[in-house]
Amino acid sequence: MGIAYFNGNFLPKDEIKINPDDRGFLFADGIYEVVRWYQGHFYDIDSHLLRLKRSLKELRIIWAEEDSFPYLARELITLNELEQQPSLVYIQITRGVAPRTHDFPSPAVSPTVYAFARNFMPDSSEIENGVDVLLKKEMRWSRCDIKSVSLLPNTLSFQEAKEQGYQECIFIRDGLITEGTHSNIFFVINGSLFTHPESEHILSGITRKNILRIAREEGIPVSESAVPDTMIDNISEAFLASTGAEVTPVIKMGDYMIGDGHPGPITKLLKEKFQTEIIALRD
Ligand code: PMP
Repeated sequence: MGIAYFNGNFLPKDEIKINPDDRGFLFADGIYEVVRWYQGHFYDIDSHLLRLKRSLKELRIIWAEEDSFPYLARELITLNELEQQPSLVYIQITRGVAPRTHDFPSPAVSPTVYAFARNFMPDSSEIENGVDVLLKKEMRWSRCDIKSVSLLPNTLSFQEAKEQGYQECIFIRDGLITEGTHSNIFFVINGSLFTHPESEHILSGITRKNILRIAREEGIPVSESAVPDTMIDNISEAFLASTGAEVTPVIKMGDYMIGDGHPGPITKLLKEKFQTEIIALRD
């Protein structure tokens, strides 16, 4: 079961009791973060902390101890004896417990903070060989930049993709390819790398940010602009980027085969550089 963090205490997960009047439970009124632990180091936890603070600010949730996230995450790794194992830490903060009304509790209540650590290994054959993705009309709200726990359109769409034999679902909003249910997406068109710009229509991924940096360091032309779904024929390579999937090649989008159906050279290069960076963290 393991040791989790709950409102100031580290305790066995099965001893945690969530109040039924918690606004996270009633309204999905909260935010979350996920950070990877690579046997010795978190990957870019500073960026995860910054995004956590931004999500809290956007929802006007005040968690006075927000800067303690890296410490809590590290403690969870130690307490669960995960130092030498590939793992992740999940943290969720909700507005707290209050009688159910749509407006915020007044005066404000303490937020509910819950975090756990567990083993995590991405599917290495997907990272090696690539995945197929479903394309689907966007059904989410217009604040996808907030890492909110309100994820029903994401879970429903991902389930639909899985049931149809795909490994991710990619959204199209007003004719533009935005991102996946839990990943950003990149394309190679005529040798340049494209990904949707930061906006309210995507989550600003930490992996996305680091891949853009690595691509620029490698001299690959980069364009943070959205690709219309009508340009699918022009795409020679595609890949997903996320904390969980790292760089995962996409070899099929709907019925459309990307390139020759194998991970392309720019995807492979970025994947290798990203993995090298992760290995360097351990030194
Ligand atoms: N978009 C969405 C909707 C996500 O859920 C995720 C996963 N957090 C991402 C993009 C990728 O973000 P990151 O690289 O920070 O994991």
